[in-house]
Amino acid sequence: MSSSILTIIYLIASVTFIVGLKMLSHPITARKGNLVAASGMTIAILGTIFLYKENGVGLHNYAYIFAALIIGSIIGTLSAKKVKMTQMPEMVSLFNGMGGACAMLISVVEFNHFMQIENDEKYTTNYSMLLIIIVGLIIGAVSFAGSIIAWGKLNGKVKDFSFKGQHIFNMFLLLIIVSLSISIFYDFGDTDYIFYGILALALLYGVFFVLPIGGADMPVVISLLNSFTGVAAACAGFLYNNKAMLTGGILVGAAGTLLTVLMCKAMNRSLLNVVIGNFGVSNAASSSGEQGGAYKEVTISDAAMLMSYAKKVIIVPGYGLAVAQAQHTCHELEKTLTDKGVDVTYAIHPVAGRMPGHMNVLLAEADVAYEKLEEMEDANTNFKTTDVVLILGANDVVNPAAKKDPSSPIYGMPILEVEQAKTVIVNKRSMKPGYAGIENALFYQPKTSMLFGDAKKVLQDLCAEVKAN
Ligand code: NDP
Repeated sequence: MSSSILTIIYLIASVTFIVGLKMLSHPITARKGNLVAASGMTIAILGTIFLYKENGVGLHNYAYIFAALIIGSIIGTLSAKKVKMTQMPEMVSLFNGMGGACAMLISVVEFNHFMQIENDEKYTTNYSMLLIIIVGLIIGAVSFAGSIIAWGKLNGKVKDFSFKGQHIFNMFLLLIIVSLSISIFYDFGDTDYIFYGILALALLYGVFFVLPIGGADMPVVISLLNSFTGVAAACAGFLYNNKAMLTGGILVGAAGTLLTVLMCKAMNRSLLNVVIGNFGVSNAASSSGEQGGAYKEVTISDAAMLMSYAKKVIIVPGYGLAVAQAQHTCHELEKTLTDKGVDVTYAIHPVAGRMPGHMNVLLAEADVAYEKLEEMEDANTNFKTTDVVLILGANDVVNPAAKKDPSSPIYGMPILEVEQAKTVIVNKRSMKPGYAGIENALFYQPKTSMLFGDAKKVLQDLCAEVKAN
């Protein structure tokens, strides 16, 4: 009886994961989607704790289970409340690493169970079980170690690191891992050593896999590691014959893979190029910060005047807007200009900010209407008929080198072609480069004017001036 109820619970949980994931694809329903999937996961966890039985025996060590659940929930809630929007990719990476670690530890526990099975049966009837244990171990360990390195790189604690022949070294590591994994099926006698050797090498591979990847490619790598964790969790779902875990793992694996592919497309790069390309490393490292050349400045009152008398204004938000937490003030400027009869929209680049969808989330938080957001392709058509483009803390995503300079590390990445508008106003605090660490010729073009200052302060001043006009 309890097993039928548990099956129904798993079915309901699986449905909530699918519905929740679907709802995540739109900013208006995303928050609810998250809650729907989380409630499905809650009933799946509680169902497993109270109804799961193996050979008629249920779980009994409730004190440990609930102590871990309570500690984990407190840490998760506090860190989610404390995290700043700009630190979100780090947090995603860290949490993803925890998922990988869980899958890896499940494989370790199940390997020990496997080793207790009588020798004769072990290698005849349980090949598939051992295979899933090993696959879960390797993918979980790579995902754990890689995510922790990605987390360290995003918060600046770990620096990009590569050495000559690193990719060959990585391939060699992978080859040893695969060879050891095959050898374990032939029971050479030292199975324990081989198993823990695979674990150590997979952890090492995770570290060396992520260490050389250039900063600007980190979102793609995090998404890839996320899909790895999904596959590792699905392996654990197989091991325990747990349908909710299996569905959840498959969904995470599939969604992560799709997101990885979409992000590569948005940057016009192949996944192989991301993994071995070192994008953003050399230039970021060699960049001196301030760049040379002559540029024009505009005052707050002139910028306000230009926008007040424009027919169409497109705002390009970037990472700097998120740092300044200026989304609400930005929305206020948009409303003030709209009240004056100006048509104001936002041009959203898929990798603006520091995580996929960063700008959508930021603007949704400030109640900017979803219809006001233009995707890159539409914006690139509309710039031609735009009087003023106001760039707020964006840099790489409007860098024309991506189109014009084959030697640029961002060459090939689609950009917002703001130069097509009549006037371009760029707000940032200095002439320093953005994330990819490269110079931006846009700032030196005749139709561009720089409006220096913190985005929030500049927007507050602009609002006041536009209202006074
Ligand atoms: P960039 O990082 O290229 O540029 C941001 C600019 O904001 C900087 O040049 C900085 O200049 C300015 N800035 C910083 N703080 C402020 C502030 N308080 N007020 C005003 N300006 C400020 O950002 P983009 O959004 O253009 O591009 C995103 C980059 O990040 C791309 O290279 C992308 O590949 C990468 N990336 C994207 C991820 C994603 O998934 N979206 C994840 C990780 C990386 P200054 O210091 O002079 O003020």
